Amino acid sequence: MSQFWSPIVHTLTPYVAGEQPKQGGLIKLNTNESPYGPSPLAIAAIKEASDDALRLYPDPTGLALRQAIAASHGLDAEEIFVGNGSDEVLAHTFQALLNHERDLLFPDITYSFYPTYCRLYGIGFRTVPLDDAMRVRIEDYGPDCGAIILPNPNAPTGIALPLADIEALVLAHPQKVVVIDEAYVDFGAESAVSLIRSCPNLLVVQTFSKSRGLAGLRVGFAMGQRHLIEALERVKDSFNSYPLDRLAQAGALASWQDQEWFTRHRDMLIASRERLSLSLQQLGFTILPSSANFVFARHTDRKGAELLQALRDRGVLVRRFGSERIEDFLRISIGTDEECDRLLDALHQILN
Ligand code: PMP
Repeated sequence: MSQFWSPIVHTLTPYVAGEQPKQGGLIKLNTNESPYGPSPLAIAAIKEASDDALRLYPDPTGLALRQAIAASHGLDAEEIFVGNGSDEVLAHTFQALLNHERDLLFPDITYSFYPTYCRLYGIGFRTVPLDDAMRVRIEDYGPDCGAIILPNPNAPTGIALPLADIEALVLAHPQKVVVIDEAYVDFGAESAVSLIRSCPNLLVVQTFSKSRGLAGLRVGFAMGQRHLIEALERVKDSFNSYPLDRLAQAGALASWQDQEWFTRHRDMLIASRERLSLSLQQLGFTILPSSANFVFARHTDRKGAELLQALRDRGVLVRRFGSERIEDFLRISIGTDEECDRLLDALHQILN
């Protein structure tokens, strides 16, 4: 605490990111990164862009990348907004589109950055409890609100809503912005992008961090009708008029264009998830049905905190969240099959 701080700083409880360990040799299944590394075409494009041109500012509109994303979805480049990871895109979204007189709604168990942004920007919010099966029930999102944000699949549960539910939610609130955070959508959920044409109140946010293996490059994007994207541009240009640096624009564009790499690695990850889920069940874990690149699992008779520490002692990092209802769950990112086997070996030792 310091007398020099602005008053708001005293009120903030910042988001705590998952551990990025300095020592090698650990099996890192704690922050939902891709275990595979990005498309080699993305790496080549970043190397190629690492030349004298770095003395020049990047394209302030990120146009080539926006055009490529737009073309894949039958949208216009003006309907795409790019930023430094979807966290930054979400930060601008909270400020530009989710700050209204009435409360913002989101699930009680969800991405813990949402309450952090609300506090930063002074946005009133209410959380809506998940049901007994830890699912989002769209009927519980009533009219008394200023806007709504949901991840689909939800995090950290991994459970996805069908597209029909998302559509019903967006249509039920035509005067309010509904943001669908699709950080994990590529691993088995249906994207709401197809609703954008008919839904002027829908913003869909995605990232290159998970299914494209580029968490270190920090590239995320939002898709929605022009009036929503314009609001994001206004906030961005009042903050930093360069959406992405030169290397990020080059790397993300090449990654987006490598559809073959994307499909192959997404399928590999889904296969590993199914295999790991089965083995965890055999070890006595209950697993929520995951459409993400992680599973949310609870052991029948061992405490989450105990398992987290015992795994760490054996060099395997997974994640656990503090809130009471989920304190015995572990969120385990899907690794390579070899990494998953190391996790299973460690669990065998711990449980037997
Ligand atoms: N949304 C959700 C639901 C997430 O779990 C994450 C990753 N922590 C993000 C957004 C942000 O991802 P990034 O900033 O790497 O795009």
